[in-house]
Amino acid sequence: MRITDADKSSYKNVWIIAETAGGEIRPVTYELIGAARGLADARGSIVAAVVIGAEPDASLFAYGADQAVVVNGSEFVGFNDELEAAALNHLIEKYKPEIVLCAATARGRALIPRVAVQTVSGLTADCTGLAIDPQTGDLLQTRPAFGGNIMATIRTSNHRPQMATVRPNVMKALAPDPSRTGGIVRERLPDGAAPNAKRVIETVRGGETGVNLADAKTIVSGGRAMKGPEGFEMLKRLADKLGGVVGASRAAVDAGWIAYPHQVGQTGQTVQTSLYIACGISGQIQHLVGMQSCGCVVAIDKNPDTPMMKLADIAVTGDLFEIVPALTRALG
Ligand SMILES: Cc1cc2nc3c(=O)[nH]c(=O)nc-3n(C[C@H](O)[C@H](O)[C@H](O)COP(=O)(O)OP(=O)(O)OC[C@H]3O[C@@H](n4cnc5c(N)ncnc54)[C@H](O)[C@@H]3O)c2cc1C
Repeated sequence: MRITDADKSSYKNVWIIAETAGGEIRPVTYELIGAARGLADARGSIVAAVVIGAEPDASLFAYGADQAVVVNGSEFVGFNDELEAAALNHLIEKYKPEIVLCAATARGRALIPRVAVQTVSGLTADCTGLAIDPQTGDLLQTRPAFGGNIMATIRTSNHRPQMATVRPNVMKALAPDPSRTGGIVRERLPDGAAPNAKRVIETVRGGETGVNLADAKTIVSGGRAMKGPEGFEMLKRLADKLGGVVGASRAAVDAGWIAYPHQVGQTGQTVQTSLYIACGISGQIQHLVGMQSCGCVVAIDKNPDTPMMKLADIAVTGDLFEIVPALTRALG
């Protein structure tokens, strides 16, 4: 369904969908607010954080939201994408946001495509850049395409709201300002809004992968040069000394040396650690897009001319099987 310019003008404000787990607001929410803040300022509109099935807290305002729109109640047990999508559809119909941003997490990826279909809005997944066309109000949604070889900028000029997902650790959260406050709007899921929605009877946690790359401060990552799982045990000893976790390139994951949740990059996780130590990773674009925003990058490689060695703040040329144990020993 195409939208006319007159209809477009009835859509206002930038919404983010707060990511919650066990009732707690997850850090990616603040990154979404940071991205939304710039867009709302460019449009002269406000940032609203939509909280479904949980309660808002002051941190939403401290990080830059002007308003929290809350739908909560006894029907929201665990994560139920069908119920949450029904709630969000109701809110969108009522308040007509111009832009809706959601985290590209397992939860966001289950929720937001349902909403995009039901509101006939379209959706751009995994954006790495967001800007506004000042003439039209179109959201310029930039994301890697064709295996990361080009960056595509996508508009949904004929539809509102404009919807995009953003991976964790891609956008920057603003510095929190505890003196900021905002308004809270409470809504209910209308009766009969999702008559056939599934019911969550019980939430059973899966086996732990033992790695949380998204929240790590330090990652020691290994590539094809590790030669096998034993190489990753060597990296784990260094990571433990640094209070960090182990990451990997896709080449190492595909070889079966380490599990997929450790993979960094375009088809793995995007990370933004203070320290990233790349051991025998050449730095192909698909890996770099997942870690290039890390604070300090140390690369260890026999070849001084790889893209990773060029990107690194500290590039150490040599055999990682000598350097990594020496570094681990030096740390005591
Ligand atoms: C659609 C698509 C998606 C992809 N997604 C991802 C992704 O999410 N993540 C990802 O990582 N890749 C991804 N890839 C793969 C990517 O293109 C590269 O193939 C991969 O990153 C290469 O891994 P590597 O750097 O470990 O291996 P290589 O490129 O083989 O690099 C190995 C490095 O180790 C060095 N070396 C060897 N021995 C030693 C030693 N003893 N000491 C020190 N250095 C040594 C070599 O000099 C070399 O620089 C994707 C590819 C495609 C097409």
